[in-house]
Amino acid sequence: CGIVGYVGHRQALDVVLGGLRRMEYRGYDSAGVAVLDGAGALTVERKAGRLANLEGALAETGLDRFAGTAGMGHTRWATHGAPIDRNSHPHRDASERVAVVHNGIIENFSALRAELEADGVEMTSDTDTETAAHLVARAYAGGPTAGDLPASVRVVCRRLEGAFTLVVTHADEPGLIVAARRSSPLVVGVGEGEHFVASDVSAFIEHTREAVELGQDQVVVISRDGYDISDFGGEPAQGKPFTVNWDL
Ligand code: GLU
Repeated sequence: CGIVGYVGHRQALDVVLGGLRRMEYRGYDSAGVAVLDGAGALTVERKAGRLANLEGALAETGLDRFAGTAGMGHTRWATHGAPIDRNSHPHRDASERVAVVHNGIIENFSALRAELEADGVEMTSDTDTETAAHLVARAYAGGPTAGDLPASVRVVCRRLEGAFTLVVTHADEPGLIVAARRSSPLVVGVGEGEHFVASDVSAFIEHTREAVELGQDQVVVISRDGYDISDFGGEPAQGKPFTVNWDL
């Protein structure tokens, strides 16, 4: 299982698929990608099975649909819900404006799911992850974190129990990727005019060797021009910078 997110000047699909390929050694049962085109379109493809299945599906629907310079990718190792297409990540909210990928387990997902369902939300998968997509969409849509994606992610992370690396996008914020971690790895890759997030540096070392490891319960916002780390409460936080010096 692996996670990669990208914002920069290249085609995100190429970067993300390259990153997923480099993390294949970790094992997985499904894979998916989401790309933001900058004009407010969020496009998702996901497939059970090998990355080749996903690539086949992408080719079939037409790669031009996936033009865009921000995106994310995921390889899944199913814990909640069978390894089938509709349980594959990214997961979206009902408006399909928010996309989330996740490695780990949201332990309190059944309580969160019951709360969402009581409020009329219809689940489209059997995963724990999907709850996070709905919760972020709702936090962004109204209340104290309205219109603020990093704040929306932080407020949702405070409600999640368990271990997670999460990457979140909102179609209204095409220049940002927000990622968060608790008890599960997350590193930032720092490039020139491009930034990466991943569960493993191997996802981005062909592009940059400058990395920053996030600490426990931290959120990072990446854009083309920089990255910004905070804790789940919104206080500024520091990661641990390092240089990857092993050979490809
Ligand atoms: N718990 C999530 C699921 O089953 C994520 C699994 C993973 O780490 O890939 O979909």
